[in-house]
Amino acid sequence: MSWDERQRRMLEAMGLRVWERPVVAPAAPAPAPVVSAAPVQAPAARSAAPVPAPVPVPVPVAAPVDVPVSVRVPVPVDRSARAEEIARMDWAALRESVADCRACGLCEGRKNTVFGVGNQAAEWMIIGEAPGEQEDLQGEPFVGEAGKLLDNMLRAIGLSRADGSPEQQVFIANTLKCRPPRNRNPEPGELAQCEPYLRRQIELVRPRIILAMGRFAVQFLLNSSEAIGRLRGRVHEVNGVPVIVTYHPAYLLRNPPDKALAWDDLCLALETHDAAGTKS
Ligand code: SF4
Repeated sequence: MSWDERQRRMLEAMGLRVWERPVVAPAAPAPAPVVSAAPVQAPAARSAAPVPAPVPVPVPVAAPVDVPVSVRVPVPVDRSARAEEIARMDWAALRESVADCRACGLCEGRKNTVFGVGNQAAEWMIIGEAPGEQEDLQGEPFVGEAGKLLDNMLRAIGLSRADGSPEQQVFIANTLKCRPPRNRNPEPGELAQCEPYLRRQIELVRPRIILAMGRFAVQFLLNSSEAIGRLRGRVHEVNGVPVIVTYHPAYLLRNPPDKALAWDDLCLALETHDAAGTKS
C-alpha cells in the first residue's frame, strides 16, 4: 500500500507505523571464511595486597512529606435545586462553582479541581473521564503521556488544545472535576452530582461534535452500559449534538494495536463534523 504525504503525517503523528513494501536488495557476496585465532593465554594475576573493607556510608533518609489534612468535607445538597442553579450559570459562575464545590466526597482528597481547557466557542468538544494524579496536581485534563498522545491525535486532524479559532481549538472537559482516590472508578453518586457541570459546559460551548473518550465518558454521555467496542463506529447524538465514541489515550498507550481503531474513529468524527454544517 502507498500513502500520500498527508496520510503519512497523520499516521506518524498518532504513533502508527507507516508500512511500506520493503525494497529487495541484491544478494551480498558471501563473507570470507574467518580463520580462528589460537587462544591467548591470559597473564597470571599478580597477588594483590589485601583490600580494606569498604566503610559504610550513611544513606540520607528522606524527610516525611508533610501532607496537609483536608478541611473540605462534602456538604449535603438538594440535587435538583443545585442542577437548576448550575443550568443558569455563565462561564465565570460555573468556574467559581466548580472550584468551591463540595457536593460529593471527592472534594476531600483533591488538590485541584479540573474544570476544562480550550476555546469556549469550540466546534469540537473532547470529553474524558476523571482526573488522574497529574491532572489533579496541574488542574488540567489530559496531561502526561496520555495527554501527549491526545495532542498528537488532535494535531493529526488539524486541531489543537492550545490555540486557534473555534474551528481549530477544541474544548476539553472531564465527566468528573475531582480525582477519585488512587484512581479508582467513579461511583454513580459522584457522577450524578458532577453531571450538571458537564451538561452546562456542553450547553455553553454548543459544539458541532463531541468526541467521547473512555468508558465512563461514553457510558455517562450515552446513558449506556455497553462496551466501547460495541458503541464505536457509528454516530450517536446527545441533545442534538453528534457524538463519536473512541478509546481513551491512556488505554491506547497500553494497547497500541487499537490505535488503528482510534484512527478510524477520528476519520468518522471528521466526516461527521464536516456534514454537521456551521454553528448557529
Ligand atoms: S467531583 Fe464534581 S460534584 Fe464532586 S466535589 Fe468535585 S466538582 Fe463537586
